[in-house]
Amino acid sequence: MAVATGREYGLFINGELVEPESGEIRDLVEPASGEPLARAAMAGPEDVDRAVAAARAALAGAWGKTPATERSRLLHALADAISANRKELAELEARNVGKAISSVKAELAQATENFRFYASAIATIAGRSSPIGGSLLFYSLKEPVGVVGQVVPWNYPLMMSTWKLAPALAAGCTVVLKPDPATPLTALRIAELASEVGFPEGTINIVPGDGPTTGAHLVRHPDVDKVAFTGSTKTGGEIMRLCAETVKRVSLELGGKSPNLVFADANLEDAIPSAAWSIYYSAGQSCEARSRLLVEASIYDDVVSQVAEKAQALKVGDPLDPETQVGSLISAAHRDKVHGFVEEGRGEGAEVVAGGEPGDGPGAFYPPTVLAKVDNRMVVAQEEIFGPVVTVIPFEDERDAIRIANDTKYGLFATVWTGDPARGHRVAARIKAGQVGVNMPYTAFPGIPFGGYKQSGFGRELGIETLDLYLENKSVLVSTGTKPYNPFGL
Ligand code: NAD
Repeated sequence: MAVATGREYGLFINGELVEPESGEIRDLVEPASGEPLARAAMAGPEDVDRAVAAARAALAGAWGKTPATERSRLLHALADAISANRKELAELEARNVGKAISSVKAELAQATENFRFYASAIATIAGRSSPIGGSLLFYSLKEPVGVVGQVVPWNYPLMMSTWKLAPALAAGCTVVLKPDPATPLTALRIAELASEVGFPEGTINIVPGDGPTTGAHLVRHPDVDKVAFTGSTKTGGEIMRLCAETVKRVSLELGGKSPNLVFADANLEDAIPSAAWSIYYSAGQSCEARSRLLVEASIYDDVVSQVAEKAQALKVGDPLDPETQVGSLISAAHRDKVHGFVEEGRGEGAEVVAGGEPGDGPGAFYPPTVLAKVDNRMVVAQEEIFGPVVTVIPFEDERDAIRIANDTKYGLFATVWTGDPARGHRVAARIKAGQVGVNMPYTAFPGIPFGGYKQSGFGRELGIETLDLYLENKSVLVSTGTKPYNPFGL
């Protein structure tokens, strides 16, 4: 099926694709080939103002009046529409991001389930009542927080958009979402599908544009009530500062340098291929990539050589080939940045045992890379490389493993491999991270809260508790007594 290659994409405001008032249309290229992909409008401040006004009007109008049962039906309808258009969406995402289409298909399935999860989770939105004595009745109301500004990165444009949209819409909010300027296509297409299935105009608005200008304008906008952000820790700090200007609610999903702990008693037949998957999925451009492989010293050499073997066996190449396991990076500039880290690691004394040299050719490919002899204080073990590069670090015992795992500013995710179930629970309890997998590499499940400790951010996505990020809690107190009130005795 031919996708919309060569097509021009407008901004999505008030239920339709529109010309940008900014006048800016940008050429998008396929990172895997360097070939032109499409042309996309970029929003300027005046476009963001238009989108926020549309979202505000929808909140006061049709969407604000849509009951929860109907919101649930619409979320299911959008899930159906995404599923029905999955081939087109998968190809669009794979070409725009350079990501292996096999990975995109898994992400699409998860995106669909996510809408279904929140379509059902709407039923849990309810206040409470509690006895406070005397003739007073207390109850609480959960109300949508209002117009939400959402900012998402380029690594999972489709999935991140759905993580953001589904809970906000379930809660009854309206949305202005800003994708990364390089990867706006699937978010725009999902907004079109939402319009087709009946979401009222202005409920979802998509305004691609540059972060420091368009993004910052959205975040600072006085008529935006809440900001939800996914991206780097550095930008997250800036967003928090901007939100402080008008005391906006904010939730942040940020970076990671997640550890993967392999104890000597682990089943290595599971642990080793999973370790390769945990770093090389999406070419390592994942917030929860297990980029630090912590291995018990007695099995260190064996694990290093086996992981290197797996890295070399991966099929890297054309994102549209269904056999491809690792696609390209997002851009040549990003590939150079990743390679810069590898060179820095070499300079610090790390040994490159697989990969380590960028491919030549027009695509932004980087080979799955293994850095051994890494100390946790090295730059390559502390900074988020955001590419297919794993650093392998030895540990002596359980205590040492936990110390190294927690010796990072991040705290998004961790995986533990051990044959001792009690150790699995013990280590999970002591690791400072928002999610821990024990003998299991997978990460994001609709219904299971996902998010960070420390500088990996705050607020949780994918869970029931995510709804609270998009709801205000109003306490109502009512007198049911017969005695008149006259507190001053006037
Ligand atoms: P980034 O922070 O550079 O950009 C993210 C988004 O923020 C983009 O849309 C960008 O245009 C926008 N932006 C940049 N500056 C802004 C500003 N001043 N005001 C408003 N918006 C601004 O991040 P990136 O490099 O695009 O994405 C990769 C990062 O995202 C990694 O650190 C990764 O770990 C993180 N990430 C986290 C999660 C998670 O769930 N925790 C998921 C995916 C990615």
